[in-house]
Amino acid sequence: MNIPIRKKWGQNFLIDPNISKKIIAVLGANKNDHVLEIGPGRGALTTHLSVVAKKISAVEIDPMLCDYLKNKKLNNVTIYNSDILKFDLNMIPKNYLAIGNLPYNISTPILFKFMENSGWDKLVVMLQKEVAERIIASEKNKKYGRISIMFQTFFDLNLEFHIPRTVFNPQPKITSSLLSVVPKKNIKINQTHLKRLVEAAFKHRRKKLKHNLKELINEKQLSNIQDKRADELSVKQYQQLTQYIK
Ligand code: SAM
Repeated sequence: MNIPIRKKWGQNFLIDPNISKKIIAVLGANKNDHVLEIGPGRGALTTHLSVVAKKISAVEIDPMLCDYLKNKKLNNVTIYNSDILKFDLNMIPKNYLAIGNLPYNISTPILFKFMENSGWDKLVVMLQKEVAERIIASEKNKKYGRISIMFQTFFDLNLEFHIPRTVFNPQPKITSSLLSVVPKKNIKINQTHLKRLVEAAFKHRRKKLKHNLKELINEKQLSNIQDKRADELSVKQYQQLTQYIK
């Protein structure tokens, strides 16, 4: 196969079929499910998915890989040569499942894109262990931050397992983790308010909240927490604070 490996697109291909199957088992797709795959690459997940799911829409930025995948003639797989960050997720029928071994350099923007779209029921992503740990971190941990609060508020998260560098070609420099993400039902928290709040709170991580939040929340409402720092409040406390946003 003479397709050049494009580092700029984060191309590290899975070469262990057992790991592919293990990842797909976490998604739990069946013959009723439409699956959106982010960055199918050479099809390490796609070929197994095409056996278990009803339909796969795979979004790949590299035109040469798209041609390669189309030549596999998997009849329930549609390949879109597109940037997932620009792709209209509303094209996929609602209640779909999403999966991807993400290009590391854009894993966080991809996750935020899915946070803002509500058409999917479950997302299973492979990403840097470091980013997965930040997403699930709790307060008073140095990895705790904006992404932890945003994701823990709106999703049930599960760090499934870690994946060593050795099952990829080329090998990445870092260990990967598989994270599953399921939207919580009936969350009443205003996403825009929470986003503004955590951005302000963590803008100066070492400053006290009375400085960081003074533009957003009245002094009176801040009285209990004014001398704390951003990483000392729990996710629940941030959620409660959103009601006081000016
Ligand atoms: N799923 C394959 C596997 O597990 O072997 C490939 C995973 S590789 C880490 C990431 C894939 O995402 C590559 O095929 C890369 O070309 C593709 N990719 C990178 N940036 C992308 C983007 N913005 N939109 C869609 N695909 C992208």
